[in-house]
Amino acid sequence: MAVKVTLLNYTPNPEQTVAMAAKLCYSPSGIEDIRDGLTEEKTASFIEMLADLGHASPTEHVSFTFGIEGISRACSHQLVRHRIASYSQQSQRYVDGTKFDFVTPPEIAKNEKALAAFNRVIEQQTEAYREIRDALAAGYIRGLTGDSNDDDAAVMERFKAEKPKQFSAFVKKANEDARFILPNASTTKIVCTFNARSLQNFFAHRCCNRAQWEIREVAEQMLLLCLEVAPHLFKNCGPSCLFGPCPEGAMSCGKAKEVRAKYRRGE
Ligand SMILES: Cc1cc2nc3c(=O)[nH]c(=O)nc-3n(C[C@H](O)[C@H](O)[C@H](O)COP(=O)(O)OP(=O)(O)OC[C@H]3O[C@@H](n4cnc5c(N)ncnc54)[C@H](O)[C@@H]3O)c2cc1C
Repeated sequence: MAVKVTLLNYTPNPEQTVAMAAKLCYSPSGIEDIRDGLTEEKTASFIEMLADLGHASPTEHVSFTFGIEGISRACSHQLVRHRIASYSQQSQRYVDGTKFDFVTPPEIAKNEKALAAFNRVIEQQTEAYREIRDALAAGYIRGLTGDSNDDDAAVMERFKAEKPKQFSAFVKKANEDARFILPNASTTKIVCTFNARSLQNFFAHRCCNRAQWEIREVAEQMLLLCLEVAPHLFKNCGPSCLFGPCPEGAMSCGKAKEVRAKYRRGE
């Protein structure tokens, strides 16, 4: 499955909410009339003013919740490094590891030799996962029942029929250790919630050409979804080179002009 990002929920009227917070800072308004006069135009001008001043805290009042699927564990590990956000990720303890899908990086997919090696190892790892999981689970069962049958599958099947709840607990305990063999390529699903200020920082880092291709794809999809519901708030979002020289120095992709053209969105 390809990377897929869904905007699950967001603060209602996100731009008006940010504009209300800004208005409170810069006008004598009270809470009772804070909404008054906040036309779309006025809202946009408050948001623009905040961006010009670098006054970012009002953008912390709105948050966006995304469902992300079809990404690898390699990608999700980078995502969760963004500390100013909340995450809930599919557990490798409660989900059977033999059923995980794997992400094949496009560069590997188009290289016959690399792809053959990749697929071979993935298959071996899946098989090893199954063997480890079954050996551990059958061992726990034998420890409880004294079952002397050598065949792990037979031991598991019998116990499953007799004590399904305890069987499931033993399998989860076995999954806990068997998952150590799962590759970074295993797919995962994650729900995350960012406020708009943290998202702006996320987009600056992860829409950059220097970010890994998979998290860049995630960031680009997230940004497009944000633009649909809060176009003024996210208007200037994208990699850092949109606003000045590339901060990557010697590691720069050297394509700032193309990147700016892509993110300026027709300006
Ligand atoms: C191209 C690229 C390459 C990378 N390579 C590596 C790598 O090789 N190794 C590696 O470990 N990571 C790497 N990272 C991850 C990077 O170092 C950050 O951990 C990640 O991008 C999260 O960014 P952040 O800290 O700005 O975000 P958040 O954690 O969401 O923090 C947002 C902002 O809050 C502030 N903040 C948060 N926590 C603190 C704190 N404890 N103290 C002070 N200020 C804080 C900072 O201003 C920060 O920018 C890489 C990232 C990118 C984009």
